[in-house]
Amino acid sequence: MALVYAFDFPHDASPRALGELLGGKGANLAEMTSVLRLPVPPGFTITTDACREYLASGWPSGLDGAVAEHVERLEVALGKRLGDAGDPLLVSVRSGAKFSMPGMMDTVLNLGLNDRSVEGLATQTGDERFALDSYRRLVSMYGRIVLGVPADHFDLQLDEVKARVGASDDGQLTADALADIVQAHLRAVEAFTGEPFPQDPATQLRGAIEAVFRSWLAPRAVRYRRREQIPDDLGTAVNVQAMVFGNRGDDSGTGVAFTRDPSTGEPEPYGDFLVNAQGEDVVAGTRNTLPLAAMAERFPSQHAQLLEIFDRLERHYRDMLDTEFTIEQGTLWMLQVRVGKRTGAAALRIAVDLTTDPRLRLSPREAILRVRPEHLDQVLHPHLQRTRATPLGTGVPASPGAAVGCAYFDPDRAADAADRGERVVLVRPETSPEDVHGMIAAEGILTSRGGMASHAAVVARGWGKPAVCGAESLTVGPDSFTTADGTVVHEGDTISIDGSTGVIYLGEVGLVETEPPPELEVVLGWADELRAGRLGVRANADTPDDAARARAFGAEGIGLCRTEHMFLGERLPVVRRMILADTPDEEAAALAELLEVQRADFVALLEAMDGLPVTVRLLDPPLHEFLPSVDELLVQQARGLLPPEGEALLAAASRWREQNPMLGTRGVRLGIVKAGLYRMQVRALVEAALVRRDAGGDPKVEVMIPLVSTLAELELTRQWVLDEVVQVAGERAAELGVLVGTMIETPRAALRAGELAQVAEFFSFGTNDLTQMTFGFSRDDVAPVLERYLEEGLLTVDPFASIDEPGVGELVRTGVERGRLTRPDLKTGVCGEHGGDPRSIAFFESIGIDYVSCSPFRVPGARLAAAQAVVARAEP
Ligand code: PEP
Ligand code: MG
Repeated sequence: MALVYAFDFPHDASPRALGELLGGKGANLAEMTSVLRLPVPPGFTITTDACREYLASGWPSGLDGAVAEHVERLEVALGKRLGDAGDPLLVSVRSGAKFSMPGMMDTVLNLGLNDRSVEGLATQTGDERFALDSYRRLVSMYGRIVLGVPADHFDLQLDEVKARVGASDDGQLTADALADIVQAHLRAVEAFTGEPFPQDPATQLRGAIEAVFRSWLAPRAVRYRRREQIPDDLGTAVNVQAMVFGNRGDDSGTGVAFTRDPSTGEPEPYGDFLVNAQGEDVVAGTRNTLPLAAMAERFPSQHAQLLEIFDRLERHYRDMLDTEFTIEQGTLWMLQVRVGKRTGAAALRIAVDLTTDPRLRLSPREAILRVRPEHLDQVLHPHLQRTRATPLGTGVPASPGAAVGCAYFDPDRAADAADRGERVVLVRPETSPEDVHGMIAAEGILTSRGGMASHAAVVARGWGKPAVCGAESLTVGPDSFTTADGTVVHEGDTISIDGSTGVIYLGEVGLVETEPPPELEVVLGWADELRAGRLGVRANADTPDDAARARAFGAEGIGLCRTEHMFLGERLPVVRRMILADTPDEEAAALAELLEVQRADFVALLEAMDGLPVTVRLLDPPLHEFLPSVDELLVQQARGLLPPEGEALLAAASRWREQNPMLGTRGVRLGIVKAGLYRMQVRALVEAALVRRDAGGDPKVEVMIPLVSTLAELELTRQWVLDEVVQVAGERAAELGVLVGTMIETPRAALRAGELAQVAEFFSFGTNDLTQMTFGFSRDDVAPVLERYLEEGLLTVDPFASIDEPGVGELVRTGVERGRLTRPDLKTGVCGEHGGDPRSIAFFESIGIDYVSCSPFRVPGARLAAAQAVVARAEP
């Protein structure tokens, strides 16, 4: 197994498909070098295999040899040697995992410089300043990243010398000043580590490679992976590449550019550019950048060459790309390419545009793969209401959507405030990966520095979080910011930001729903065609309003109407009376009351979903959600404040109190204990269906029995349903075509699916309860345990959010297979939270589920994810 591949290695497959082995960056560098033959500085990639081996059992044997061999090859190709006192080769060492983790892991530049080679570099370039500047960057970067010297040691030294010589920015430092800084940095390293800065380039290289491997485990990288659900066991590749310099004078520069506008999707290249700077300066957002168009004026031929490269890249990748490039003394070099992150609106526009672009002509199948379900969330996000208020300032509209919250200036305090339930806007001069936990906790992000490609902008866009970046008129301090006119906004003050326009306001501005772009319907239309007949999408909706919204979002029916949700709020006492009834008369009276309200609700629900199936689940109230709190009643009693009827309530509530309500008298168990309840509900439903038929409607009713474990439970309750249908509808029963099915929520039900299917006409997998019971994790109490498990990497994803394929998923698969053996035309759906989760949807598609059902807002994303699953499986 090779541990290292040169960028020009002739792989059997297209290298861009080798992201798992080479990391995304390495794979694309190889693609640009070996397939597209673009101008890429030569280099090599140390594989993720090597990283995994390192993380498991230390430095891989054979790696030193392989690296040395590749360094030598590089030296021969370039005619320069690492550490050479005459004309030294310098390399960069960068991480690059399979999935992009912007800025999460470490990079060391200018490696190969030492006390001798810095002189060689000065002689070769005729630029002593440049050589010393490169060396001081190496010592501080290497010191910080590889040797763990705190960054402020170096920053303070830099500031000290700048103050002494009266330089306001780094560019004004003379060679002498830079030489002083180098010496100070070298002393800082020695003082902190007890060892001199390593002069041997091979030692430097090994240290840097090891630091990149280790950075995979850095807390910020781990946090990012949790957020993005990136598995912990992938490891990162390491790219070692000959350095090119964008800071070699005014004929040099560096930039980050997208082949199309990543914010709007407009088919025009978009990016940031800096003259006489290194790439990190653009990404860090520490210097204010020029738009790409300005490059056309300064560097016309390189600009034209870049556009030509963009054209080739788009034709080749058939997508919008994100690139990094450098011009070194007039020569253009490509340093990176990857499929570009984009906003939801841009994703939709690009997907549609690429189908009509004569160079590409994407098919709808390809086009839907250019949009992610999260993108749809973004275009369905709110924005700020119009307001007459004077803005506090404006910045770059870096990530669309609007946010209102209290300003917090520190990521820890922001995260704490969010934990306390506050809505938070994180305000920083700029962000770095160290801030990620605060960014996650925030509703929105505001920075005073940096452009579209800055860390804050890239990360926020990827997450669909509103962000305003580079609001230069704000002076951001440690716990307040000051606007141009002197207004001071303190920590905790409410601000509103609009990431689509870049405007910032003091105080709370109302949020309004957005108008999705016209491309949304086009893309969803394609998605619907592609998944037709394979995977349906329904909604979990309990009220007529929800049902109408779900239908507007494209739901093809209701997969779960939780009837107990019809009894929240002011109707709660009715259910409570029914549960707590002491005598048959009391119970009958409460049921009669329920019947009335249920019938009216069902009529409206069936009307909203006319012509589409509506699965009504018979009552499944975990009792603790519906009963008064025994503890509170006891307190009232102790204080002598309990009214006479309260005594009865307390007695009844105590009788029904359960230790494990989620495993208690719920679902079919309550139905059996409270005989009469299910009959009443079916009566209300059938009466409602008849009302709808009489009104010329087309109600399609499916009755579902929850939390079943045994055939006997299902047979008994199903018979009640059938009896009631006949009793209420008489001869019209057949006309209604009511189906009766069951939820599969207990492991036993999944295992005994074969016999349940003897009487169930459909199965709906309640994967929330099925997850709870399969893991034995209490849905209500597991949060702190899960948090810990996720932190420790004992679980990679929250199994309540994304289906646990090997365990819970296996039960679903078993249930489907066994059920279909008995009843080949058994309809199967999933109505747990997983029904709206794209990953889980792909799994459900693969095991032959007929439909998923999720909350109305997730329906568009589910339609897309379902189509993507169908397409991906047809052509992996
Ligand atoms: C489920 O358990 O997955 C389900 C949909 O039911 P509920 O969440 O109402 O228990
Ligand atoms: Mg359930």
